[in-house]
Amino acid sequence: MFVNPDWISDHAGMVRVLVLCGTGDAIELVAKLSEISDIEVIASLAGRTRQPASLTGTVRIGGFGGADGLTTYLQTQKIDYLIDATHPFAIQMSDHAVAATKAVGIPSVMLVRPAWEKVSGDRWIEVESVEAAVQAIPVTAKRIFLTIGRQQLAPFTTLKEPWFLIRSIESSDVVIPNSKILLDRGPFSLDRERQLLRDDRIDLIVSKNSGGEATYAKVVAARELDIPIVMVQRPVMPNVEQVESVDRAIDWLQDRLKGKFN
Ligand code: NAP
Repeated sequence: MFVNPDWISDHAGMVRVLVLCGTGDAIELVAKLSEISDIEVIASLAGRTRQPASLTGTVRIGGFGGADGLTTYLQTQKIDYLIDATHPFAIQMSDHAVAATKAVGIPSVMLVRPAWEKVSGDRWIEVESVEAAVQAIPVTAKRIFLTIGRQQLAPFTTLKEPWFLIRSIESSDVVIPNSKILLDRGPFSLDRERQLLRDDRIDLIVSKNSGGEATYAKVVAARELDIPIVMVQRPVMPNVEQVESVDRAIDWLQDRLKGKFN
């Protein structure tokens, strides 16, 4: 892939890397990249959370203004590489990243944790979208643990019967009357998830298939307690190079930097 050599020399020999954030992996990636000499990291946040987790180095907040806006940003900020470490459900941002990096001609990679795989004992009802999850909730479900974040709660307001335990990092403007709000940020331990499911007598979980370890304990706890999960499957991701871990993302970048600085 073509990299404009002027861009690299323009910022005093530093390679400028834009990391699209929004996950725990992104935080770890930014911290690790910041420790590598000759790399300047710019961490980009959508600005959804009022109190985002702390990030090292340069941080920018807010949308770019679509794929065209990101293209302009990459050009004006002379970005050399882009690592898309957004959540697997943040598909619009990922699509824009692919379009913009192609337009500018810089290498990019997606850091995507593998999806969780259903194993023996799991009682998953797999659905394509949050809206489909609402339709898939059995009438027998009375106490539902809703763990899909706070941005897509609106479709659940149509359900009048069940009680909801809603866990998210920050509160939502959407009010589900028959509910309890639990504001919390992962990772969550298995002991805690087990306790929570028992204490609130949960009989169904609604989750996105986010993958990764930080929020997997609820899946294990559900398996142990024989609780079904309505599992929202991931959207189709853009056809672009992917790595599965923070360390592989660093390897990807270092492979591309080989020979530039030694
Ligand atoms: P999305 O639908 O893919 O993106 C919507 C718009 O938000 C994008 O077009 C972009 O605006 C802006 N945006 C998203 N991520 C950005 C970033 N890292 N830096 C700058 N702008 C960004 O995303 P979403 O599902 O609303 O998620 C928003 C953020 O929350 C993402 O960073 C994602 O990683 C994180 N998150 C999402 C979920 C989820 O379930 N969707 C779960 C956990 C965390 P412009 O078009 O103006 O550039």
